[in-house]
Amino acid sequence: ERLNNVFQFVDVGRQDPAKKAMTARTQEFVEIYQPYQQPEAQQQAHRCLSCGNPYCEWKCPVHNFIPNWLKLVAEGNLFEAAELSHQTNTLPEVCGRVCPQDRLCEGACTLNDGFGAVTIGSTEKYITDTALAMGWRPDLSQRVWTDKKVAIIGAGPAGLGCADVLVRAGVKPVVFDKYPEIGGLLTFGIPEFKLEKSVMTRRREVFEGMGISFQLNTEVGTDVTMAQLMAEYDAVFMGMGTYRYMKGGFPGEDKPGVYDALPFLVANVNRNLGFEKNPSDYISVRGQRVVVLGGGDTAMDCNRTAIRQCASQVTCVYRRDEENMPGSRREVANAKEEGVAFLFNRQPVEIVGNGKVEGVKVVSTQLGEPDENGRRRPEVVPGSEEIIAADVVLVAFGFQPSPPAWLAEHEVELNDWQGVVAPEQQPYKFQTSNPKIFAGGDMVRGSDLVVTAIWEGRQAAEGILDFLEV
Ligand code: FAD
Ligand code: SF4
Repeated sequence: ERLNNVFQFVDVGRQDPAKKAMTARTQEFVEIYQPYQQPEAQQQAHRCLSCGNPYCEWKCPVHNFIPNWLKLVAEGNLFEAAELSHQTNTLPEVCGRVCPQDRLCEGACTLNDGFGAVTIGSTEKYITDTALAMGWRPDLSQRVWTDKKVAIIGAGPAGLGCADVLVRAGVKPVVFDKYPEIGGLLTFGIPEFKLEKSVMTRRREVFEGMGISFQLNTEVGTDVTMAQLMAEYDAVFMGMGTYRYMKGGFPGEDKPGVYDALPFLVANVNRNLGFEKNPSDYISVRGQRVVVLGGGDTAMDCNRTAIRQCASQVTCVYRRDEENMPGSRREVANAKEEGVAFLFNRQPVEIVGNGKVEGVKVVSTQLGEPDENGRRRPEVVPGSEEIIAADVVLVAFGFQPSPPAWLAEHEVELNDWQGVVAPEQQPYKFQTSNPKIFAGGDMVRGSDLVVTAIWEGRQAAEGILDFLEV
């Protein structure tokens, strides 16, 4: 009878999973959300209206069968929900944790109309976490192996998405990564308070059980050459990410005490995971006044890492207003709760200090006319200069593609901003100008999201299967 309540969304409000106590959140590198237990997950999933033409599915970049798996959760059919969820998504438990749901699936939920969207992300995480803990594994009993094998460069979400689709089709994927663990930025970028690293170690076991091989600590171009891969494999997929840091282009950026975001985050993760090679790589902001420049996910991760490292003060400076921030609203709210101060409509023009950072000079901005992407351009307010005192500045202005030099030898075409050209459409999806090489994720689209990288990796795998006539 409980399952027939068509007004569940009225009787039961949206309930996000509980967050851990603030003391844990500001001192420990652990996920901040408690897991759903079965009754809450069922109740929340049952709030779904099963819209005939679900906008959430359309807005989700991998087009998850959201209402269908919500229904299975509401009915208590967890393993079926896990199986269905994996039909479209390679890492559902990761997306459930790190997707900006308010801009994607949940932002499109009909219940936003005053009732509160269904907690799609938290339910997606619940399904896979719980099913895997209970022993569920993807059903590959119908798979027939072919004699084809594909080399995948990069064990980030794009490479893993590609490997997942290939292995299910009986094509052997061998994934090469220069890092000692799989995940790409999921492991060496996104901090543990959003995604604990045990999630990826468990995933590795699942993938290996499915027949995916990993060759870690192996850099293509150094430890093995692209020419070798081209000779030994039937096709190659590249999902190597974007790793060139964008600069502000203002004076003082090279002063001691100014750091790029990713080295700060990666050194922190490496220390926590025990992968640290050189203790001097670690950047401590303990007791320091930290200013973070930028307003995206990377900036939020820097803010919240600095809080956990016990900075004396953390201020985030962003040149647009809060409404126009590019990252997830949930993470901005979490940063505020944890004690980050935000200064909106401020543009840095100089990092000042005698021999080391003493402050950031900013000017106020107001939003002008929309640019070609529809985002309103910040314009400087004359005479509005001020200096924000700082001991450390973390620069999180984003990333640009960093394709390896050896691509040229293999006739892989790049576009004018150094992204690999790999069109989404035919003849074979995500094929580069070299027919045997496919590519996807950040190195093709520029730095974006985990879920879009997964999608491109999965699509490229379909392109490879067509190309190999499997
Ligand atoms: P990557 O994840 O970068 O993986 C590329 C892999 O290729 C790496 O493991 C690298 O070691 C390997 N590689 C590169 N060159 C070689 C080589 N020559 N030989 C062998 N291996 C090689 N997205 C979200 O959706 N939500 C978030 O909350 C979020 N937070 C983020 C926070 C930070 C700090 C950053 C930097 C990004 C964040 N993103 C977030 C974006 C997201 O992480 C990326 O868009 C996504 O990881 C891109 O996937 P990818 O597979 O294309 O590349
Ligand atoms: Fe939402 Fe991301 Fe899951 Fe799609 S993959 S349903 S966008 S949380």
